[in-house]
Amino acid sequence: MYKVITAWNLSRPDKELNQDVSNIQLRGYKRDTFLTGRFSLGLATDEIRPLSVSDISSRLCPSRRNLYFNKGKNRLSSTSARPTWGRKAGTITEKYIVNAHDKSITAGNIGKYSTIRKKLDKFSNEFKLDNSGDFSGLERLSGTEEENPERFLKLLNFAGREELFSRLFHRKMLTKKTELDHKHLILDKVDPILLNPNPKQIGISENVRPDFLLRDFKAIGDIKSGVGGIEDHYFLTCIGYALAYENEKNEDINFGIVYYLPTRHTRFFKPITSPQIYIFPIDDEARTWFLDVRNEAYDIISKDNSPPLPEDRSGCQYCKFYDHCVGDGLKP
Ligand code: SF4
Repeated sequence: MYKVITAWNLSRPDKELNQDVSNIQLRGYKRDTFLTGRFSLGLATDEIRPLSVSDISSRLCPSRRNLYFNKGKNRLSSTSARPTWGRKAGTITEKYIVNAHDKSITAGNIGKYSTIRKKLDKFSNEFKLDNSGDFSGLERLSGTEEENPERFLKLLNFAGREELFSRLFHRKMLTKKTELDHKHLILDKVDPILLNPNPKQIGISENVRPDFLLRDFKAIGDIKSGVGGIEDHYFLTCIGYALAYENEKNEDINFGIVYYLPTRHTRFFKPITSPQIYIFPIDDEARTWFLDVRNEAYDIISKDNSPPLPEDRSGCQYCKFYDHCVGDGLKP
């Protein structure tokens, strides 16, 4: 997470982008962001179920049949999520990054690149041993050549080296009181960040768990991992967290941060990748985007019938409703 700290202090979005966030109208505690009466009533009578931030932001199923089956008017009885390589890798990534951050805090003076490499090799080996169950699970879920646990661990290792390097870089800088330091960073894996917004108002279910929070800097963040590059819905997730936070706490959040680590190579090339940090103002345009997506999702789950099978079926193999959709005509 030192990548976040250094990126923030080098760019100072709270100063540079102050104009973008100085007059935000659509706060999670204001009526303008609340659900319309029709949807609130549906929630109050349990006709539909509240959507989570990830329900709203994820695009696994382009027609959103999965949301309908999960939370809609004629929902199916609960089915558990299919374990996937990507989900498992995401959980391990979060754990690794948070542990590497903790280790970095106590790192002594290091003057050589070779020492950083050695320290992280040792740390990664220990991490793999301590989390052997997770790595065995990853091995079992691996379905393609790209889903390679050894290579994944290497990419985590490189990310850890950058964490340590960022920490050393940060230590050399004179931090002013107004600048971000590790003491400002609240990490969910260390100090749980549990948000309980009012679903009938904001349309987001309870038990929201952002990965990190910079309360003093009005920023909220998420650690993401995946194949290829950053995707729009990663930003949507942070906007949902900000609205949920504002709704419950009555306090403003102005910035979202996505810590993104590409963990898989493609069929055609196998790059070494570095964590990427995206800091963005959660301004009224961003909020309008989230609210439109949220309203569209509530509209879908409030209908009498489920949406049709989508054209793009690339997510079907990861979906827990696969068997049901095969029964409705999805070709296996
Ligand atoms: S199996 Fe495919 S079509 Fe069916 S809900 Fe899941 S993603 Fe949508």
